[in-house]
Amino acid sequence: MNRNLILVVEDDPSVRNLITATLKTNDYKYIVAENGQSAVASAATHNPDIILLDLGLPDIDGVEVIKRVRSWSALPIVVISARSEDDDKIAALDAGADDYITKPFSVAELLARLRVMQRRINAVVNPDQSSVFVNGALRIDFAANCVYLGEAELHLTPIEFKLICLLAKNVGKVLTHTYITQHVWGSSWDNDVASLRVFMAALRKKLENGQGAQEYIQTHVGIGYRMVKVD
Ligand code: CA
Repeated sequence: MNRNLILVVEDDPSVRNLITATLKTNDYKYIVAENGQSAVASAATHNPDIILLDLGLPDIDGVEVIKRVRSWSALPIVVISARSEDDDKIAALDAGADDYITKPFSVAELLARLRVMQRRINAVVNPDQSSVFVNGALRIDFAANCVYLGEAELHLTPIEFKLICLLAKNVGKVLTHTYITQHVWGSSWDNDVASLRVFMAALRKKLENGQGAQEYIQTHVGIGYRMVKVD
């Protein structure tokens, strides 16, 4: 439970039923609109978290719905378009849609797109948290370039700071050696990967000593590294 409210805008009853049945089975709350006018009205009245928007609607078209909603809201909009509506899809993205699904789509794809939007919502819900990252006893103040473990400030080299910021911004995800070296050094030569190992070992040592210390960074041998979410 505790899922976001989805506004489903679709005039085709069979597609609408597929979407709402999927949402229902996966514990999403939803409301529906069968045309563009009621979609805009519903978006204003119910303040949904995400809009799933069909582009081909009987009254005003989906792109116009996006423009109207965008005039007052930044809420995520996922467009559902038929292949024949490719130009509309581009127009929709230009008008401010966040993502699109092409019909026919699978239930798994629909759910995956919704999860992406939810992650995006969670990331922006608390704007102050985007400048300060907290994970257990670890705290990173991105703007001030400071890292704390418990009460103690960690003294990191500029490279170590870049590494920990990159891992923190992708907490929970395995980052490959190439991805990391490209983001930290702008290249991914073999010796960058070797240096990465050295810098990462030093960083881990600093994180694993002292107050509130634990394993924050996991090594995935032959792949890369991951910051573990500890709280
Ligand atoms: Ca339609």
